[in-house]
Amino acid sequence: MSTTVTKKLMLFFPRCECEKPIIYHLVKDYDLIVNVFRAKVTPEEEGYLVLDVTGTEANIEQALEFVRTFNVTVNYAGKGVAWDADRCTHCGHCVPHCPTAALHVADRGTMEVAFDEAKCIECLACIKVCPYGACSSAF
Ligand code: SF4
Ligand code: SF4
Repeated sequence: MSTTVTKKLMLFFPRCECEKPIIYHLVKDYDLIVNVFRAKVTPEEEGYLVLDVTGTEANIEQALEFVRTFNVTVNYAGKGVAWDADRCTHCGHCVPHCPTAALHVADRGTMEVAFDEAKCIECLACIKVCPYGACSSAF
């Protein structure tokens, strides 16, 4: 049996109505488990979707080939939420608000805060609580 992997992705949809059928096909045709964290359609009717897909590497690659036929841009880094290390003062204020410890104290000695993008579930709590604007969202 092939090993499964999970990849976090950010998809950008040009003006179209294709998000829902695409998710359906990812599940049905490519046997992927899809976990949507966040979706938004702008007033210009462009769409953003941050999601995890779990399946075999081969199925994920084939599924993304299919997705691209809709002119959808696939960002593998999944950067819906970004953390700016230069702006962060390591005040620690966001740490207890982050439900998954994506933002965490990396060094108990210096109390340095770090961001583990893979653990981020895009709840946006850090954006609201960071006094220095170190956390931001792509959409
Ligand atoms: S968006 Fe939520 S999960 Fe992600 S780093 Fe911020 S608080 Fe943590
Ligand atoms: S609240 Fe902002 S400045 Fe403070 S540790 Fe978190 S990201 Fe850094």
